[in-house]
Amino acid sequence: MAAQDEVGIVDFVLLDEITLDKFMDNLRFRFKGGKIYTYIGEVCVSVNPYRTMNIYGPEQVAQYKGRELFENPPHIFAIADAAHKEMKQQGRDTCIVISGESGSGKTEASKIIMKYIAAVTNVGGRQEVERVKNVLLQSNAILEAFGNAKTNRNDNSSRFGKYMDINFDFKGDPVGGHISNYLLEKSRVVLQQTGERNFHSFYQLLRGSSESELKNYRLSRDPDTYFYTQQGKSSKVNTINDGSDHRATNAAFKTLGFSNSEIDTVWSIVAAILHLGNITFKSQEEATQPADSSVVNRAAAMLNVMPGELSKALSERVIAARGEVMQKTHTLSEAEYGRDALAKAVYDRLFTWIVGKINAALNVQGDVGKKSYMGTVIGVLDIYGFEIFDANSFEQFCINYCNEKLQQLFIELVLKQEQEEYLREGIEWKNVDYFNNQIICDLVEQPHKGVFAIMDEACLNVGKVTDETLLEAMDKKLVNHKHYTSRQLSPMDKELKHKEEFRIRHYAGDVVYNVIGFLDKNKDTLFQDFKRLLYNSSNKIVSAMWPEGAMDITKTTRRPLTAGTLFRNSMIDLVKTLTSKEPFYVRCIKPNEVKSPSLFDDERVKHQVCYLGLVENVRVRRAGFAYRQRYDKFLKRYKMISQFTWPNFRAGSDKDGTRVLIEERKFAHDVKYGKTKIFIRSPGTLFALETARSEL
Ligand code: ATP
Ligand code: MG
Repeated sequence: MAAQDEVGIVDFVLLDEITLDKFMDNLRFRFKGGKIYTYIGEVCVSVNPYRTMNIYGPEQVAQYKGRELFENPPHIFAIADAAHKEMKQQGRDTCIVISGESGSGKTEASKIIMKYIAAVTNVGGRQEVERVKNVLLQSNAILEAFGNAKTNRNDNSSRFGKYMDINFDFKGDPVGGHISNYLLEKSRVVLQQTGERNFHSFYQLLRGSSESELKNYRLSRDPDTYFYTQQGKSSKVNTINDGSDHRATNAAFKTLGFSNSEIDTVWSIVAAILHLGNITFKSQEEATQPADSSVVNRAAAMLNVMPGELSKALSERVIAARGEVMQKTHTLSEAEYGRDALAKAVYDRLFTWIVGKINAALNVQGDVGKKSYMGTVIGVLDIYGFEIFDANSFEQFCINYCNEKLQQLFIELVLKQEQEEYLREGIEWKNVDYFNNQIICDLVEQPHKGVFAIMDEACLNVGKVTDETLLEAMDKKLVNHKHYTSRQLSPMDKELKHKEEFRIRHYAGDVVYNVIGFLDKNKDTLFQDFKRLLYNSSNKIVSAMWPEGAMDITKTTRRPLTAGTLFRNSMIDLVKTLTSKEPFYVRCIKPNEVKSPSLFDDERVKHQVCYLGLVENVRVRRAGFAYRQRYDKFLKRYKMISQFTWPNFRAGSDKDGTRVLIEERKFAHDVKYGKTKIFIRSPGTLFALETARSEL
């Protein structure tokens, strides 16, 4: 039998009846009893406990290290161990896909997994492996400081997607890694909804710097002084200590080998953005200029650019027409738009540069770095979860699309392929129905007809097209799509209050998006004047972040890919990467909306269980088989436990040998024989086989 841990049932597959109600009863019962992990076969369902759990210490590491899933109570350590073991024993790349909505515990799960892997590796105490482990662990502090923020859903919400490959050598020890980051929500730099904050880094700088550091950055301590950190009216978060986090970030920078001047540059850039946000403009006689030159001076000093040049770039732009170069002064709104675009772009580049530096520190060193080195990889995916806010824009659209893609991957690998395998192997099978969200992925990503494609087409017609006409184009092309509607298409729909709104029926719920800003965010361009300004910075690091500032404006260049298309392509690549590896899943659930450790909000949880397809997952798994193996491999592993197959089976095929062994051991009731594989129904049988093998 699978391991019992006294509270409810440890694997939903073992429920006596598979219904949504029974599923909910067990999940609730376990949550109330302090058990946050439950399996569906090899999938780990995790409910955010919203309190510190004493289950991640050395004792538990020892308990789970090298064990099989069914030998111990459910734990995320067991999934991490399984991914590591599979990689080490089979020489296969594996990945751990963590999904769930915003605030469900994905980032915490990914950190727990990394800590576990660090704890069970490098028994030999090699120095380079130790260094890599430290870099892997410490990189989180930096990424969270610059890429996470308080939202109305989560105090520490990831505002970027992260996929991390950890490279292992033949001993199974980590020797390097690589982080891929996806679309940072940079609009947050200049705009936050009520109750939300900017990225943590801004508050860390203000609250954590010493007086003299603040003076160097020409800052005052109070976040409410700065337009970019005061809009949400919630700069203080009681679950966050910005001061001590600032120290942790700096310590992590040091561990990763950032030099003092690099660290100083990072914080100077953050300070520059705060100053930029306080620049206001005045318009006189068709010219627009910064109202107060002292603020411009401060921002310029932090970026190491000439104040006059910054002021100029904020007030006018150079345009090239028919090979001729002209100055064009900004209107007030153009100037404000330019300032915000500059602030966003500078932060975004900074983030990318930081990720690049982390990757450099994670580069596989020494012999193993050579081409001939054949290492294996565990990938850990932690993205921004599905989210719905009062106002949803281009960023939510991308984030929610990303979640659709992951759900699709889960469906493909766990629900669809599993059933297809039974058919292929000729195993008797009653089909399990599930909602396939491919139709929503298509709605967003299809060439020519998808939302991204329609946006790109609109972006090509600069000048003539507005967000409103983009919406008209979408209405026209998507009018018959079941998962799309807009105010224009359904005027009686109470949810669609404004004419700029459209709604997508996502797998995880309906989201109303406001189209205003979509085109601009998709185009994602920055006036060349700013690029040139930053390229000319006397700070080499800043300058190197803006190589395209060297470009001659009169030379026509190819239009860069839009933000939407880049994101779509990166998601398609990501899915390809994940599909090439053996996947393990952690499905995170948020128990309530109020961050309570005791409240299990039935309606909210039920909704998640439904859209994640967990009950269907149990059905496929249960009607199915816990374990399957090719006959040759199965015999190789277990032939010693039967007198008929040891040392070799000569009386027929591997399939015949397997059948003889199973019958002698009296497991026939629990197995089915496919064309190429044996299918074992319960984990207990496997456990018994393993025990028999180890008792020899
Ligand atoms: P987002 O999609 O917004 O990034 P997320 O799924 O990454 O959300 P987390 O940031 O991991 O969510 O979790 C939100 C909060 O829930 C954490 O800051 C922590 O307070 C709590 N939490 C999550 N998992 C655990 C855990 N295993 N133990 C204790 N607390 C947890
Ligand atoms: Mg997160």
